[in-house]
Amino acid sequence: MVKISRDDVLGALKEVKVAGHDQNIVDSKMLKNLQIFGDQIDIDLSLSNPTLRARKQVEIDILKIIHQKVHQKAKISTKIQVIAPKREVNANKIKGKAIPGIDSIIAISSGKGGVGKSTVTANIATTLAKMGCRVGILDADIYGPSIPTMFDVEGERPLAIKIKGRNLMEPIENYGVKILSIGFFTKPSQAVIWRGPMASKALNQLIFDAAWGELDFLLVDLPPGTGDIHLSIVQAVPLNGAVVVSTPQYVALADAKKGIAMFQQENIKVPVLGLIENMSYFTPSELPDKKYYIFGKKGAEKLALDKNVPFLGEVPIVQSIREGSDYGRPVSMQKSSPLSEVFTKITQNLIHQLLKRNKELPVTKVVEITSMTGCEAVN
Ligand code: ADP
Repeated sequence: MVKISRDDVLGALKEVKVAGHDQNIVDSKMLKNLQIFGDQIDIDLSLSNPTLRARKQVEIDILKIIHQKVHQKAKISTKIQVIAPKREVNANKIKGKAIPGIDSIIAISSGKGGVGKSTVTANIATTLAKMGCRVGILDADIYGPSIPTMFDVEGERPLAIKIKGRNLMEPIENYGVKILSIGFFTKPSQAVIWRGPMASKALNQLIFDAAWGELDFLLVDLPPGTGDIHLSIVQAVPLNGAVVVSTPQYVALADAKKGIAMFQQENIKVPVLGLIENMSYFTPSELPDKKYYIFGKKGAEKLALDKNVPFLGEVPIVQSIREGSDYGRPVSMQKSSPLSEVFTKITQNLIHQLLKRNKELPVTKVVEITSMTGCEAVN
């Protein structure tokens, strides 16, 4: 009879991780039971928040690693027990104005326009969808909504559907990402100069009068700067956190600093999950080993260090990123390219910071502000 060593199996399982978790399945105690009978290996796992895809992936990884490292013909049975997430730590379901069914709401912001905030939002969303998460984007950039173009759904019109007697907008879906954008309701040529209260009302409708369904993540693509839309959002929903995107350029960083300061203000207190540096460097295709730091070197990383916020990663300037945005297919959709790896790493870092935040910090409260002084102070 084949004899398989328990230590060998445990050693192999230590190489398996579940998407979004830093520790392997053994050290994180997800492995609940391991039994070996001849060449039959029974594995019981207990996972707290797996998506279907993460579950399948972990089974595949276990099979692969045991066949590779322990016994080529071992018969493996993996049972996964799913622990329902603890709803009491779910910020958005315990607040009065919460969006039912949405686990984490993350705002993506930037101090300046044109630094690639929407591009980064689109690529993080498609990366999350690739990981098996249920994702939505609320494009709140009312002054230049570009998410519809980036997802090739420009000109679409969300339909109304009736749920429990309420007429709700149905988000438009592409690449596994549900999208609602102010851009669906305005002509592309029409410059949207909205007054604050009008914009806030429209946004509230996109948030609360929409059939988002069950989502693991709702990413909110904010307009650049620190204005009334930002205030509307923090007043409307308890954000789990915010991400700030900046280029390494001095002027962009100076504005990113204001963005961080706004979220960290005593009366706003939205945890900054991290800073992402976009357009970090340029590498010409004929000189793949060269990096040209056109906008300065590692400015955002230094700012993150200085402000004591996590640095989530850097994205180079690459033509295909721009093309992906313009042609409506985010570059991270590519199967296994260096660029999709860049966005995978950033997304994993973001998930890591979100989990850390959920563990260490209390639920974010919606902000109650009656005047604009709070945000004007950081402008
Ligand atoms: P923002 O949302 O900050 O205004 P966008 O995401 O719309 O910025 O990006 C501005 C322009 O820069 C777009 O044309 C986009 O395709 C391009 N872009 C953004 N990031 C990159 C990058 N890393 N490499 C190449 N082009 C980029």
